[in-house]
Amino acid sequence: MIEKLYDRILHRNPGEREFHQAVWEVLESLGPVFARRPELLDESLVERLCEPERQIIFRVPWSDDSGRTHVNRGFRVEFNSALGPYKGGLRFHPSVNLGIIKFLGFEQTFKNALTGMPIGGGKGGSDFDPKGRSDAEIMRFCQSFMTELYRHLGEYTDIPAGDIGVGSREIGYLFGQYRRITNRWEAGVLTGKGVLWGGSQARAEATGYGLVVFTAEMLKTRGEDLDGKRVVVSGSGNVAIYAMEKARQLGATPIACSDSSGYVVEEKGIDLDLLKQVKLTERARLSEYAERSGARFVSGGRVWEVPCEVALPCATQNELDEDDAVRLVRNGVQAVGEGANMPTTPSGIKVLRDADVLFGPGKAANAGGVATSALEMQQNASRDSWSFEHTEARLTEIMQHIHGLCHTTAERYGRPGDYVAGANIAGFELVEEAMVAQGLI
Ligand code: GLU
Repeated sequence: MIEKLYDRILHRNPGEREFHQAVWEVLESLGPVFARRPELLDESLVERLCEPERQIIFRVPWSDDSGRTHVNRGFRVEFNSALGPYKGGLRFHPSVNLGIIKFLGFEQTFKNALTGMPIGGGKGGSDFDPKGRSDAEIMRFCQSFMTELYRHLGEYTDIPAGDIGVGSREIGYLFGQYRRITNRWEAGVLTGKGVLWGGSQARAEATGYGLVVFTAEMLKTRGEDLDGKRVVVSGSGNVAIYAMEKARQLGATPIACSDSSGYVVEEKGIDLDLLKQVKLTERARLSEYAERSGARFVSGGRVWEVPCEVALPCATQNELDEDDAVRLVRNGVQAVGEGANMPTTPSGIKVLRDADVLFGPGKAANAGGVATSALEMQQNASRDSWSFEHTEARLTEIMQHIHGLCHTTAERYGRPGDYVAGANIAGFELVEEAMVAQGLI
């Protein structure tokens, strides 16, 4: 039955590999739900969930510093608004296409549901490559992108944020253009804003911090904690850096991280101040960090070959495959928490599951970012701004709630300790209940 449904979705969405993978991962978990509640199949819930409510594709023309014009493609996939306005980030990366944005929007719908906040799911972006572009070029691109996108947004409609290639600089340019076109100071239309102009404390830290809180909760179920554990992280952007920071606060040692050029290993622990300076301020390569810190830099290679107890993939989709998982298991990994969206391949997950490694799927483990975006929306709606401590305390509570929800849902369906099943079923149940209550729309 589920296979048939999946075949129809494959057929309807040809060539969208990552979208197929994300849909299958959820469908595979739902067998026990349909066995208990077959009426859900009659109501075509799955077909409705897999079809975005709206898909917007547009031209983004812009000119570079030498006056040459370029054309990129912009996307916003408004996936599901049963629980709240569309909410999800924008990704600027050359690999972006409709299938990638659909996979991200699909995942976002369940992730946002798990947070318990009133947010639906959406995602957008462009195949624009920000690498090597000047601030002025980035600004012109963002202005052109928003010149089309603004008409689809609104604090009660659709609220984008950052993702790969979109950080506070880009959100600033996007917000400025939105304000200019609409003549409205509508803080709640974008999240990830600067703290000075409507942003939230702890938003930059939120995904990484939340990921580590979730991972610590998983370890707790086995009477373990992070103290003294070696942590290996992929990526070296916001998510990776703040995951390492929180891991260190909880007594672990972050010993390796990566970027697209290779990885660094430092057994005594990564120097996070220097890493922030090199990666976030200077936007330089990781080799630059290694040169200044004296850490070992491995050009190319897989960061997962570094032995550790905790592995946190925080870069991009399908970056931890079966071979990587085998290597991690052989080296004694105890927990894997996904900071990125769908970073572990299905065969990689299987290896980890068979070896009884704690595995926190992205839609649960990395939900702290979007949850804090929802906290930013709350602050905007009440024209308030909270302290770092208060915001972080709320984030921690939310992550513990998500962990508990995934854990108890997995148990309820006879899959104790299976966070993939727990997250997929719990997310599905929340969205499904709201959809059914609101009728055939
Ligand atoms: N891009 C982030 C995610 O994947 C954050 C989205 C948001 O804050 O809206 O969840």
